[in-house]
Amino acid sequence: MPAAPHSSKRATGKSTRVTRPAPELIFGDLWEYDPAPETADPKLKARYDLFIDGKFVAPKSGKYFDSINPANEQKLAEIALAGAADVDAAFQAARRAYDHVWSRMPGRERAKYLFRIARLLQDRAREFAVAETLDGGKPIKESRDFDVPMAAAHFFYHAGWADKLDYVAPGRRVAPLGVVGQVIPWNFPLLMGAWKIAPALAMGNCVVLKPAETTSITCLKLAEIMQDAGLPPGVVNFVTGAGEVGAAVMGHAIPAKVAFTGSTEVGKIIMRSLAGSDKRMTMELGGKAANIVFDDAPLDQAVEGIVNGIFFNQGHVCCAGSRLLVHESVAERVLAKLKNRLRVLRVGDPMDKNTDLGAINSREQFGKIRELVEAGVKEGAEMFQHPCRLPAKGFYFRPTLFSGVSMSHRIAREEIFGPVLSILTFRTVDEAIEKANNTAYGLSAGVWTDKGSRILKMSTELKAGVVWANTYNKFDPASPFGGYKESGFGREGGRQGLLDYCQLV
Ligand code: NAP
Ligand code: MG
Repeated sequence: MPAAPHSSKRATGKSTRVTRPAPELIFGDLWEYDPAPETADPKLKARYDLFIDGKFVAPKSGKYFDSINPANEQKLAEIALAGAADVDAAFQAARRAYDHVWSRMPGRERAKYLFRIARLLQDRAREFAVAETLDGGKPIKESRDFDVPMAAAHFFYHAGWADKLDYVAPGRRVAPLGVVGQVIPWNFPLLMGAWKIAPALAMGNCVVLKPAETTSITCLKLAEIMQDAGLPPGVVNFVTGAGEVGAAVMGHAIPAKVAFTGSTEVGKIIMRSLAGSDKRMTMELGGKAANIVFDDAPLDQAVEGIVNGIFFNQGHVCCAGSRLLVHESVAERVLAKLKNRLRVLRVGDPMDKNTDLGAINSREQFGKIRELVEAGVKEGAEMFQHPCRLPAKGFYFRPTLFSGVSMSHRIAREEIFGPVLSILTFRTVDEAIEKANNTAYGLSAGVWTDKGSRILKMSTELKAGVVWANTYNKFDPASPFGGYKESGFGREGGRQGLLDYCQLV
């Protein structure tokens, strides 16, 4: 159930006592929230240049592209379009910084810069949260309560490691790899940047990073923080643009390692293009997680976890619990509870503090979600959407449930990356494991049950990098995150994440 409304009024305007309405009417139809827009200034520039060698520089081509706000399709800022020469300049700057400054600096000194970046990010947290929401479309309560604090937490955590690197691989000494090329997607623009940059820098590597075309702004704001923190020029460089710029970053001769987060399809293209080279690689790719509910689970808690698992950030989450596997004996009850919960989810203006689901990140992603939902209907699954009002402008998708789904349906196999849940049933533990593992992916899973022994069995048998028990979508910088199978390889976070940014000597 949602928290009690902060400021609320009866939509009817009457103060008459309500006599035992059906539970699904209590919040959805009688209570309405007043608008509560976030008003902090995101301090956006009209134009963002590339960040190379500690300075903002215009792209050599002189070309820029627009970044829009997907909530209203209005232009937010112009972003520099990098060419091959700009990418090369960024790598040359990173190599100079690595050779002459960063790799020679003691870890305890590097730590001071990381602590400074973390603190400056905290100082400007509201501004960053607003910028993230405007550029990406996610609800302000998520960017405020999750993205920005987690990004700062990753810098703090890795700052803490920088002078303790002898303990990363006990009995061995570690050394940095050199310059690293990194490419990230649009679903957590600042946070994915922090996941990539913080461990690399703590280990003594230098970075050239490309954010996604639709969400470059918070990385470029992070560049301002790097300047304010006095980070030596060239240690971190940002180049912006679309897929070709990503390919130029991954394919450049200088980086000793490339780290990619994005779709399995693009991950495979990069792996093919680098096959035979001596570059190290880590790949954080797609997912199709199973959230598994047993008949002894606390069902109300599980429903909250299911909703959080798939509707958090509009389902733009690689580890989203997009397949619900529910024990046959409780399937009907769980479906009824989920429908009730969907009726009170608030879809709309991402800048409103009460909004649960904001805008889909781009028109292109909106089209992909719609296509898969249409496939689900065509293949015979039963669809439920609450007919809530959606803003006239912007890319909004109603939270969607599909029941009667079978393993062969596209909506059960393909990553939708949107607010769409496919519900399947099972009868035995073995059937649940078999169905959960019957996917090309293996990033995450959830288990809901009262039995500790069953949690242990499931977490052993499920082929997923993360298994959450009686919760979902919980993150901590100390906890490694990464995939099995086509969800990729390598880990981000924790000691394991640091190991992926060093060589053992
Ligand atoms: P995507 O299309 O693969 O794009 C990811 C990044 O790669 C973007 O910056 C993109 O540039 C760039 N890119 C595109 N083509 C490239 C190429 N040929 N060479 C190098 N870079 C290239 O993925 P997306 O649609 O943005 O993001 C969603 C995907 O990311 C989902 O599959 C999701 O599961 C996955 N993801 C995984 C994790 C994880 O930790 N495993 C975390 C988050 C997201 P432009 O977008 O600017 O064109
Ligand atoms: Mg944008």
